[in-house]
Amino acid sequence: MDKEIFDFFNTDLQFIHGVGPVLAAKFNEVLGGRRVLDFLLHIPSYVRPREILDSVVNAQNGDTITISLQIKSHKRGGIFHGRRTPTQIVCADKFAAPVTIQFFNTKFLDYWTEKLPIGSWRIISGKLDFNSRGGAIINHPDFIEVPENAYKIPKHQAIYPSGEGLTQKNFSAVRDQIFNIMHERIAAYKLSERMLEFLDALEHVHYPETNDDLAPNGTYIAKLAYGELFAHQSAIAINRRARLAHKNTRPVRVSNKNFIDKFYEILPFELTNAQQRTIDEIFADFKRDVPMMRLVQGDVGSGKTMVAMAAAVKMAESGAQSVLLAPTDTLAQQHFAKIKPMCDKLGLVCDVLTGRDKGAPRREKLISLKSGRTKIAIGTHALFSEDVEYKDLGLVIIDEQHRFGVDQRTAMRAKGNNPDMLALSATPIPRTLSMTVYGDMDISIINEKPAGRIPIKTSKIPIARVNALIERIAPQVANGAKIFWVCPLVEESEISDMTAAQSRYEELKKYFPGTGLCHGQMDKKQRDKVMEEFVDTNSQMRVLVSTTVIEVGIDVPSATIMVIENAERFGLAALHQLRGRVGRGSKQSYCILLYGNNVSPDGIKRLDVLCETEDGFVIAEQDLMMRGVGELLGTRQSGWIQYHFVNYREHRDLFKLAQTAAMNNNSEDEDWAKTLRMIFNCSTVAGA
Ligand code: ADP
Ligand code: MG
Repeated sequence: MDKEIFDFFNTDLQFIHGVGPVLAAKFNEVLGGRRVLDFLLHIPSYVRPREILDSVVNAQNGDTITISLQIKSHKRGGIFHGRRTPTQIVCADKFAAPVTIQFFNTKFLDYWTEKLPIGSWRIISGKLDFNSRGGAIINHPDFIEVPENAYKIPKHQAIYPSGEGLTQKNFSAVRDQIFNIMHERIAAYKLSERMLEFLDALEHVHYPETNDDLAPNGTYIAKLAYGELFAHQSAIAINRRARLAHKNTRPVRVSNKNFIDKFYEILPFELTNAQQRTIDEIFADFKRDVPMMRLVQGDVGSGKTMVAMAAAVKMAESGAQSVLLAPTDTLAQQHFAKIKPMCDKLGLVCDVLTGRDKGAPRREKLISLKSGRTKIAIGTHALFSEDVEYKDLGLVIIDEQHRFGVDQRTAMRAKGNNPDMLALSATPIPRTLSMTVYGDMDISIINEKPAGRIPIKTSKIPIARVNALIERIAPQVANGAKIFWVCPLVEESEISDMTAAQSRYEELKKYFPGTGLCHGQMDKKQRDKVMEEFVDTNSQMRVLVSTTVIEVGIDVPSATIMVIENAERFGLAALHQLRGRVGRGSKQSYCILLYGNNVSPDGIKRLDVLCETEDGFVIAEQDLMMRGVGELLGTRQSGWIQYHFVNYREHRDLFKLAQTAAMNNNSEDEDWAKTLRMIFNCSTVAGA
């Protein structure tokens, strides 16, 4: 039955004829795995036609052409006067139009005179270039065949996304082997009708005839995408059902104190409706008999911290402990500075624990956690070091959740007895997708900003006007304004036309001597130190040049200007995150998007979206519409699933279909669902 084919699917590619361990390792890099199945799930991105043309005359510069040519003469290449000249084979097509084949490598002319004798005909396929004198040239043809072997040149060549050390011929050779073996064995496997259809669709996309065969909404990809979505959705549905079926897994906790009313009293502001609604949803979870698993999605500045704080305060009423996990030391310290004074007023012990804590002070903190005295602990993953123990860990709050992987979440859960989990995320996901992307979590959305926020003024200007910009911001800097200046890369040499943080830093220092620099190649300690100096309102560091390392969470209320260089190179979501670093105080804030000389009209259009709105959900939606999710900067970190066949933009309807089907759990289909989950490696709590 279907299961049997997995023996073949799981075969290591190195055992495929002609592959071997070296090539298999290279495939592993590109495919993210080295099994036959990993290869099958890696599909071509387009088709390159190689049908034989009659004449070169109508071909365009840059076309890939396949043409029958007669060899006319040979010209020896080599090094002449210090310049390398290619070996040239002068040919002519049927109509005597000349085409020259060139080779720059070191094979001797004799090799070619023998292989391509004068007067003979060859089918040659490769990229056509016209030289400055209008001569037709093919450099290093992809295929050279004698006319009888023309069939060896694929008429519709599938082009695979490749990587270092792998050629398209490697891909097609492995593909041919795999499908040959499969055809031989298919009868013996006695596969189900569905599996046969699935394999048939796979075969069509690996041997596409036109680009339509690879279109997201074409027959084959749509079928495969649906299977992939169904695999994920059914895994999610199973996990969800399993979690909710385990009744009485949440420890019963009795509130014997009232902290929450006092908390509302001492809050320096009114909660927004969205904050209050989210808090209500969390408190309702606390009354259930299964642990909470909730994701709070709210734009930067929407006030997620106070929501989390309310949850921790409520938890403390029963004497249970809460931890708030931040992605960096600096953020942990910032949260602590805000939360500690409130805890003091409530009479709750609050502490901070990061990698910086060492020796005796650290031991003290651990004792207080173990005894249950500390009710709210804020920190980094140091909170989950092996020697950290809790008396009764009731609630784990994860700030900016995408920075923490599944393993870490499991480690956290293990520190308590089925603790409640609350994740906070500032990565807005279009509403239509969030359920499908976050799967098993319940979701609260904070779609409202605290009252009185002054909208950020966003504008876009060409990089050529950077000096005028510096002049414009100088008086603000003199008045104590803090400026974030973000550049995409550090090394000047990496991409020539991109302004590097390092050189921008040198430049800005001339105008603003206190300028700081922060980038990913600095070690974490140095980085934290620079950040802290920038956060300090009394420091002379007014301008901070950085790469995107400042993207997450940092709160500098006196920062009022955000400059982003080469903004066109960022995804909209990333730009929106960066912009969220300003506009947190009571002063007017600005975001200036500097774009490079080579910006495309589409690039400008994307920047316009940002100039027009500050609503993260609208921006996420636009981002999705304007380019496929897979291409977005920072997609991997943001926790979106990397699909093989699914295209977030094109397959929205399939998402809903697959979700409905998975929720309806038709047990007839369970075998096939299981197979799909195996194909797409979707694990469930139950194992398969
Ligand atoms: P984020 O959702 O980005 O984590 P924070 O929780 O850091 O946002 O809140 C941003 C700022 O807004 C903080 O200074 C916080 O004290 C303040 N804040 C939160 N809720 C409100 C509110 N309801 N009214 C006014 N200010 C608020
Ligand atoms: Mg936050």
